Amino acid sequence: MIRLKDVSKTYKKETHALVDVSLSVEQNEFVYIVGKSGSGKTTLIDLLYGKVKPNKGIVAVEEYFVNHLKSKHLCYLRRKLGVVFQDFRLLEHKTLFENIAYVLEVTGHHPSDIESKVMDALDTVNLKHKALDYPSDCSGGEQQRVAIARAIVHEPAVLIADEPTANLDPRTGFDMVKLLHKINQRGTAVIMATHNYSYIDRLPARVIELENGRVISDRSKNHVQLIINAKYGDFYVG
Ligand code: ADP
Ligand code: MG
Repeated sequence: MIRLKDVSKTYKKETHALVDVSLSVEQNEFVYIVGKSGSGKTTLIDLLYGKVKPNKGIVAVEEYFVNHLKSKHLCYLRRKLGVVFQDFRLLEHKTLFENIAYVLEVTGHHPSDIESKVMDALDTVNLKHKALDYPSDCSGGEQQRVAIARAIVHEPAVLIADEPTANLDPRTGFDMVKLLHKINQRGTAVIMATHNYSYIDRLPARVIELENGRVISDRSKNHVQLIINAKYGDFYVG
């Protein structure tokens, strides 16, 4: 579903943000991209939705080769993806409903179709009751849930999230990760970049670790679970 082969990205001829990264992500996977600040997580995410182009290597998402995609065709790639950022990026003068509906309006969906899809997305994030409120009426956690609803309303194959919990308190952040796991269980692949390793213990999944732009480990969910069992004992329930 997602393939990176020998991908390198250098900014301004001197910052090697990613170096020879190869990896693939299959349908239904949940993948944490972890690493310290500056390790290349955001660059990796930005490559997937075509914001950044690699200097070398191949980036493929479903049937699209992102490197070769012309700007005017990026919209086709983005229909396959939902993207969530740490700063929510909602439109302040639109209601929660309108913030989400907008995604479907620009892709030409029928109004009756839009209403049911938006309400379903709001239901998934438990915010149906706030459909007509504005972002300023919402807490940070609620705003991020709206951003997640907006990212899944067009039923993308992959949801990518760059530090979705960074602006939230730990408890709300954990709720957000649980929500992403729920969405994953419904059949959407999830790729979440985070510098917060505590989620991995609490909700195990595949973990790809970056250091100085290189993949230094790539551990399957089972392997992560084994490490956690060794740490907390087999009775620990993740
Ligand atoms: P992370 O998300 O893990 O913090 P980034 O992908 O943002 O890492 O950054 C990786 C490296 O690339 C860092 O050294 C960062 O300073 C650099 N970098 C990121 N974006 C740019 C940019 N637009 N211009 C120049 N350097 C950048
Ligand atoms: Mg980042």
